[in-house]
Amino acid sequence: MIKNSHFSNTLKIWYLENKRDLPWRKTKNPYLIWLSEIILQQTRIAQGMLYYLKFAEKYPNINLLAKAKEDEVLKLWQGLGYYSRARNLHKTAIHITDNLQGKFPNCYNELIKLKGVGDYTASAISSICFNEFSATVDGNVYRFLSRYFGISTPINSSKGQKEFKELAQLLISNQNPGDHNQAMMEFGALVCKPKKPDCYVCSFENSCYAMQKNKIEMLPVKENKIKIKKRYFNYLIINSKNEKTFIQKRIGNDIWRNLYEFILHESNAEVSIKEIVNNQVLQKLLPNNSYQISKYNEKPIIHKLTHQHLFTTFWIIDTNENVNQSISWEKTANFALPTLIQNFVDKYKKRD
Ligand code: SF4
Repeated sequence: MIKNSHFSNTLKIWYLENKRDLPWRKTKNPYLIWLSEIILQQTRIAQGMLYYLKFAEKYPNINLLAKAKEDEVLKLWQGLGYYSRARNLHKTAIHITDNLQGKFPNCYNELIKLKGVGDYTASAISSICFNEFSATVDGNVYRFLSRYFGISTPINSSKGQKEFKELAQLLISNQNPGDHNQAMMEFGALVCKPKKPDCYVCSFENSCYAMQKNKIEMLPVKENKIKIKKRYFNYLIINSKNEKTFIQKRIGNDIWRNLYEFILHESNAEVSIKEIVNNQVLQKLLPNNSYQISKYNEKPIIHKLTHQHLFTTFWIIDTNENVNQSISWEKTANFALPTLIQNFVDKYKKRD
């Protein structure tokens, strides 16, 4: 049995003295806490903060978010990645407004039913806003607990996830679960860091397993199960009369759903011009073949996502024809574009 009162008290004192001044720590409004938690999934605090402030300003309550168009929400999310988070955020706002009379669920068991909300987010909202004793376990907590207690069960295995959640649950303070959860995560983020943790100023130094046994570098353990898929993306960039181009919405069940991109020709390997000119969308838009084609980048640009690497070549299609549904380069700024495309647009517009 873990004696948790010493542990929680030490943590509480550390947190009161060291916690960062973050905007979502000034509220217990479940809508704003939910917004911050969804934004911060897989995102660093510095980057997430800008997006949190933008969203909280444009959509200060759930009704305004629900009324927004999905394209607007995706545009505001642009650059943050993992776009399913933005789509789920919007769908959930509509669901709460339409089916729950605009009232945010107020307990773990109801929160977990929301789209895009898993154990971590439901625990965070229910503990911070409703004082529920549900432990949050994020990457920072896994690392801290694994080192402090010397647990080598892989943190990305289902066995590990269950074990760490149970341990975190045992440790949760019976006074203020919301602060306790935030303190655990903050400690992992600021002191028990992935590389070079601050062990010599750590309040837990004398009782930490990894410190005593010199195993800091070895913990936590992660199973290597991510397989990276290679994909070859060829973007066909129409540059038509009057400096116009052509973009389209991505559909289907794939990355970047509902964002906008140029004509995409995906292949199994790098391709020749011959294959590109046979692209059906290109043939439909420019049936007279009245264009010149050139490669923008000789070597593919490798855009890395968590599970896939996109080997990307941009092909410039210069034409004097008017292309159906083309838009000015300036207008591309009104559409939500994946970072890969936005980076290209920014460079291409500066070419002269
Ligand atoms: S002593 Fe080092 S490894 Fe142990 S909890 Fe503190 S910072 Fe983490």
